[in-house]
Amino acid sequence: MGKILEVNNLHVTFTTYGGTVKAVRGVDFHLNKGETLAIVGESGCGKSVTSNAIMRLIPNPPGKITDGSIKFKGKNLVKYSEKQMRSIRGVDISMIFQDPMTALNPTLTIGTQLMEGVIAHHGVSSNEAKRKAIEMMDLVGISNPEERLKQYPHQFSGGMRQRIVIAIALICEPDLLIADEPTTALDVTIQAQILELFEKIQIATGVSIILITHDLGVVAKIADRIAVMYAGKIIETGTKREIFYKPQHPYTRGLLNSVPRLDLKGEKLTPIDGTPPDLFSPPAGCPFTARCPFAMEVCDKVYPASKELSESHHVNCWLQDERAKQLLTAVRL
Ligand code: SF4
Ligand code: MG
Repeated sequence: MGKILEVNNLHVTFTTYGGTVKAVRGVDFHLNKGETLAIVGESGCGKSVTSNAIMRLIPNPPGKITDGSIKFKGKNLVKYSEKQMRSIRGVDISMIFQDPMTALNPTLTIGTQLMEGVIAHHGVSSNEAKRKAIEMMDLVGISNPEERLKQYPHQFSGGMRQRIVIAIALICEPDLLIADEPTTALDVTIQAQILELFEKIQIATGVSIILITHDLGVVAKIADRIAVMYAGKIIETGTKREIFYKPQHPYTRGLLNSVPRLDLKGEKLTPIDGTPPDLFSPPAGCPFTARCPFAMEVCDKVYPASKELSESHHVNCWLQDERAKQLLTAVRL
């Protein structure tokens, strides 16, 4: 399985009157062809900023990619001009957002909105575009597509509108689909249907998916791998199985609402106390220190290196480092 996307040492900042927010601080991850990677974390952890950076949709100013590379099929998108990016967005990489209503134009029919991208980018005839639009409506599970193409967004329910947004995102047959909280605005039953649709689409088209979410229930359903973000960093990555059954980072365990202490097996952890650090002046060490029940002296001072637990499972936590135990003993003595 080849890599379709490789993000290395990505840094994104936002300059404000109050100072510079270090929103993404050295993020590394990759996406294999045809897989779904979920990037999870609380709001403000940098997950949306990371996905917007891939699309080069960070408004500059105030935002800026200050370091790192984003290699899509081997090409570094950080070096691309806005013109080059325009030929990629919606064609090679598509993005869908939380609110399906803002993504659709209320004054145009669904058919027009579906067809315009494929006509603009692939230069096909309107008959061919219509055929493609019907095929996409069918793929996303909207019945009677020929008739429904003539309708306007307000004639569809929220869940149906999100299906249409997904159809629009896929009509140019992108290799990468980025979905930022795609089901958050929908009610639970509809959420489940949309998640099933992602799985179906992936099987049908082979598209690689990055799913941005704060909801681990969503992740459990469709992710192959998971990257957990906290305070602008990815602190743990692993397969779905590794993250759900063998989470190692105390924050991941907190997110999973599971057991941070082995001697309390089976007990529920209450929501993690405290708040993430101020990203105007993030700590040099582990950003979870102030909230972590296991924090050691070293944690606050030095950021823990990535520890490989398996080929797919990596974590940044001093608990995984033999030296920390020695340091801890030294401090206590
Ligand atoms: Fe807790 Fe230290 Fe691990 Fe950070 S590095 S999660 S503070 S034990
Ligand atoms: Mg967000």
